[in-house]
Amino acid sequence: MFKILFMSTSVGSLGSGQGGGVELTIQNLAQELLRRGHQLEVVAPSGSWLTDIPVTTIEGNLQVPVQTQSRDVPICLPDNSVLANMWDYARRVQHQYDLIVNFAFDWLPFYLTPFFETSIAHFISMGSMTEASDRIMHSVIRQYPGTFGVYTQAQADTFPFAQDCEILGSAIDLSLYQFNHNPEASLAWLGRIAPEKALEDAVAAVNLTGTPLKIFGKIQHPDYWSQIGRNFPDAPVEYRGFLSTEKLQQELGKCRALLMTPRWIEAFGNVAIEALACGVPIIAYRRGGPSEIVRDGKTGFLVEPDSIPGLVKAIEQIDRLERSACRQQAEAEYSLLSLGDRFETWFDKLINN
Ligand code: UDP
Repeated sequence: MFKILFMSTSVGSLGSGQGGGVELTIQNLAQELLRRGHQLEVVAPSGSWLTDIPVTTIEGNLQVPVQTQSRDVPICLPDNSVLANMWDYARRVQHQYDLIVNFAFDWLPFYLTPFFETSIAHFISMGSMTEASDRIMHSVIRQYPGTFGVYTQAQADTFPFAQDCEILGSAIDLSLYQFNHNPEASLAWLGRIAPEKALEDAVAAVNLTGTPLKIFGKIQHPDYWSQIGRNFPDAPVEYRGFLSTEKLQQELGKCRALLMTPRWIEAFGNVAIEALACGVPIIAYRRGGPSEIVRDGKTGFLVEPDSIPGLVKAIEQIDRLERSACRQQAEAEYSLLSLGDRFETWFDKLINN
């Protein structure tokens, strides 16, 4: 059995939605490792919580999410940085652990890696974002081969060290998601409301088809959200807020399909497997993580990236897909059991070599 220290993202507290899919990944992985009898401590910014798992919370100011910045942005920490405070805590408790796992996509934990005596594994939750982070990551992976995990090959391919990444995928607790074979007319859009997610494309498509669209998720950029409202004043959309997993799966299950329209290379897209688990097919751009998840013509449609007519055509054909195939794919490929096996194998290699 391993003793593992999880270091969370520092752009938001766990449970806030600011961290995006990595929040769910931490919850699910921690839950599965504890079930297997490993010892685990999760360290995260103050205000954080996980379901049935204690969290050590640390005070301080949050990091600015890196995806909002340009590629040449300098390395930046706020005064009284929560990221720095969290890693100071890790330094003090490191000898109690076999392994530290970093979930923050930030320069500092990579930079600090050689200064620690306990090994650090880095789970990277986004594609390449800035020159500075690519450079520090590249230097760390040369020195510590095998220590980087990612969600998908498409994500790994954005980095100059793609071939050195362990592809670990993602998973959900399938028992929390109910299959719904009897959907209503609405489509769903789900995730952080931020420019890289290009919600406007989904709104433009339903503005043409007249299909109602329910939007779920954290409004991370209020100006961006208002602009979409001004550009499409008559679109048939309804904002339903940021929901807990329990409520989200209830609402999502009622939808005919999930629209995924990211402009960036989505590292994975946890929302895709949540939809599949509810029996909801996915209409996604053929780009990044979703293109590795969706079985085109079976559990969804992959559409030419940034093509509104492509989305419209897929919406018109959605009822051709069997919802039971979606749930089956989730059960076959995205269970916590297989995720736990992949991570356990990776941790075992790092701890025992
Ligand atoms: N989410 C949620 N409630 C909502 C909308 C979204 O809990 O109302 C969560 C969802 O479960 C998923 C995350 O937000 O885990 C979005 O993650 P994803 O991997 O799709 O994208 P990211 O934000 O990491 O780019």
